[in-house]
Amino acid sequence: SQPAKISLQIHPYGKKRKLVLTRDVTAVQLAEAMRRDFVANVSHEIRTPLTVLSGFVETMQSIPLEEDDRARYLGLMSQQAQRMQTLVSDLLTLSRLEGSPAPGPGEWIDSEELLTHVIQEAQGLTQAIAQPPHEIRAMAAASFWVSGAKTELLSAMSNLLSNAVRYTPGGGRIEAGWRLRPDGGGEFFVTDTGPGIAAEHLPRLTERFYRVDRSRSRETGGTGLGLAIVKHVAQRHGGQVEVQSTPGQGSTFQVVLPASRVRERVTG
Ligand code: ADP
Repeated sequence: SQPAKISLQIHPYGKKRKLVLTRDVTAVQLAEAMRRDFVANVSHEIRTPLTVLSGFVETMQSIPLEEDDRARYLGLMSQQAQRMQTLVSDLLTLSRLEGSPAPGPGEWIDSEELLTHVIQEAQGLTQAIAQPPHEIRAMAAASFWVSGAKTELLSAMSNLLSNAVRYTPGGGRIEAGWRLRPDGGGEFFVTDTGPGIAAEHLPRLTERFYRVDRSRSRETGGTGLGLAIVKHVAQRHGGQVEVQSTPGQGSTFQVVLPASRVRERVTG
């Protein structure tokens, strides 16, 4: 957003000069509009599962159900409750990221250790939701130390991997790894053979609640906040998120870290 401009005008009123401060309100108005949008979005995201949930409660109160149906209804109700829990947890993560100072140099973390952790998680996810499961490969392009907040980095990495698993049709190929950049920085990348994303959506992907494929996001338990979280983590570490995507072929997402956060491993 743009900074508010303050302009000074000096009006000659008779002998005395009067100082008039006019503040450019566009930036303030923009921030206010964004806040309203955000509240409307959150309300909508919470209302949908609540409506479904109370619909089931009413049905169960009004008609006697066979044991099978009862179990099925309870399963569906628990899914809706889970959805709200995920949403609240993502909202809390975002607000913590927005409200706390950027992590200092922190500890030096083994990039391979981070990778192994999130790859294992993604293997579990694909076994649970993809038919057939994806082939997920850890690309050990380089192994180095990265500095920062470990839980934040893990959360950014696993968000990218879980998106690849959730949006790539079953049986697809997903590759993830760390690699060094020519400028001495490092990046974590995830490449998938999924549907890809049309160019017009790319600039907006990291906006809170922005979704290209709304129904796919919902079906797979998406909150629309994942990439906003990834962007915050990257920026807090002095880096950024990059995306390359070809519709019909797949996407590559990257969390890029600056050279100051990367230390090459000295071997031998
Ligand atoms: P969500 O919880 O909806 O997945 P995200 O913020 O993680 O929210 O992603 C925003 C949107 O970007 C998704 O709804 C989806 O449309 C699109 N997207 C993200 N990752 C991928 C991917 N690997 N392939 C295709 N589309 C993706």
